[in-house]
Amino acid sequence: MRTLDDKRIVVASHNKGKLAEIADLIGPFGLEAKSAAEYGLPEPAETGTTFEENAYIKAFAAASATGLPALSDDSGLVVDALDGAPGVYTADWAETATGTRDFAMAMRKVEDLLHQKGALSPEARTGRFVAVLCLAWPDGHAEYFRGEVEGTLVWPPRGERGFGYDPVFKPDGYDETFGEMPASQKHSWEAGRGDLGLSHRARAFALFAKSMLGAT
Ligand code: IMP
Repeated sequence: MRTLDDKRIVVASHNKGKLAEIADLIGPFGLEAKSAAEYGLPEPAETGTTFEENAYIKAFAAASATGLPALSDDSGLVVDALDGAPGVYTADWAETATGTRDFAMAMRKVEDLLHQKGALSPEARTGRFVAVLCLAWPDGHAEYFRGEVEGTLVWPPRGERGFGYDPVFKPDGYDETFGEMPASQKHSWEAGRGDLGLSHRARAFALFAKSMLGAT
């Protein structure tokens, strides 16, 4: 596995919710991280069919444009009763005709499909959030870190915290949705203690931090 010798990286995301979480996670490690938006980079089209492919497209685009290692996150919600949908199309399901994103609409779409499938009991409404972090270098080399968190889809949406589909996702073992939890519980990372937050992103980040940043 290639190591990260450079303390400067680009965070290859334009998603404000993800950027805030990644900034919290990276914070303790003294990395100098600027986002792709701060470099004025365009968002590449996510044409892959797996989280890994899309993560690579984003990270490599930012790495080759800046000459620095770039870290991307491709993530989504995988619902068992919907054969894994929305999956890599999780963000697309929130796309409106005018090009904005409407997550209330996207959550309703998931709920309508679960109803059509007769998936009404919690056991029938299982799924997971998946996050794949990709660290790509300008020469094309890449390392991947995958995190998942299992849970149940609830309705109606609950909580004003977090972003995206957080209000309908209740992680296993908790009564609150990600939308109701404090950010620290969803994605905390305490350097040196190995405490992970619950989220898919925090879990993927823990793998990244252990192998690339020397976290214990
Ligand atoms: P992409 O990785 O840019 O393709 O977008 C993934 C989409 O998944 C985001 O737009 C969010 O809607 C959703 N998503 C990813 N992570 C989370 C999360 O932690 N909470 C809620 N929604 C998420």
